[in-house]
Amino acid sequence: MAGSEQVLITFRDVTKTYEDGTTAVQSFNLEIKEGEFFVLIGPSGCGKTTTLKMINRLHNMTHGDILIDGKSIAEHNIHELRWNIGYVLQQIALFPHMTIEENISIVPELKSWKKGDIKERVDELLGLVGLDPSTYKKRKPSELSGGQQQRVGVARALAANPPIILMDEPFSALDPLSREQLQQDFLKLKEKIQKTIVFVTHDMNEALTLGDRICLMKDGETVQVGTPEEFINQPKNEFVKSFIGNRRSVLQLPLKELLEELELEPSATPAREVNSNVTLGDALASLSEEKILTVMHENEPVGILTSEKALQFLHAHSREGGLV
Ligand code: ADP
Repeated sequence: MAGSEQVLITFRDVTKTYEDGTTAVQSFNLEIKEGEFFVLIGPSGCGKTTTLKMINRLHNMTHGDILIDGKSIAEHNIHELRWNIGYVLQQIALFPHMTIEENISIVPELKSWKKGDIKERVDELLGLVGLDPSTYKKRKPSELSGGQQQRVGVARALAANPPIILMDEPFSALDPLSREQLQQDFLKLKEKIQKTIVFVTHDMNEALTLGDRICLMKDGETVQVGTPEEFINQPKNEFVKSFIGNRRSVLQLPLKELLEELELEPSATPAREVNSNVTLGDALASLSEEKILTVMHENEPVGILTSEKALQFLHAHSREGGLV
């Protein structure tokens, strides 16, 4: 769901040049709104991670400014800034000697939460990310699969209820099945937690299905900023088109041509209706606001479309190289 119109994070003419002279980010301007799921995407080396790490001051910018809530990050206390910004990495760095519970409790403890509140929060968060608290909280990270560890990483980032979460390719080290499962669960989770999320990926499927808005970067600069719908329907140039690649053609097909393959299931739950002339891309954009859509074909309901279903379909067809 798109957030309010209130801007939470502003990049103002930000440039980052590393000590060896590499300019990773160049005159970068961007506004991220409160409650928005914002995706930074682009080829390897285009400056996504650098951009993300400047938000919580893991990297300092060379020029320009970043504002959070209208205040320069330089003026925020660095510890408070980091506590108020959850951070999830590709390979989650859980502390190996600590239990899952202890790993999740780190920031609440630093913030001097009461013991009982922390315990309650750990149980709540493990439940939220789909891990049974009684089974997992006393385990060590090595006793969990990669996908489960990433779930704990998400729980840990959410622990002290920070308004902003930064995620750097959080699912990319996982095998395709766990990855898809986690993406689908995360689609549901993002509705529940209602945070401002800045999410780095190089995977356009992930960007189109998870993002409220996307910024495509190249050589440290912005190429296009827009909703998934705008990327599909109004790609700004050939670079954007090539990045969307064959998904564009799949997403531009009307639902009526995909009815058999989508294997839509009937449902008794009333949902917003969508005509089968609508493209898969437009349906997907609507699914960021509605949980399910009832697909109408020749005035008859033929089944419901969910984000999970659309996501699965997109994955299947991008692996095969597209339908057309
Ligand atoms: P992405 O996340 O899009 O892959 P990065 O932000 O990691 O891109 O990197 C952007 C550019 O900055 C690349 O050319 C990379 O080699 C360079 N870079 C990243 N970190 C450093 C560093 N610590 N020192 C020098 N150059 C770096």
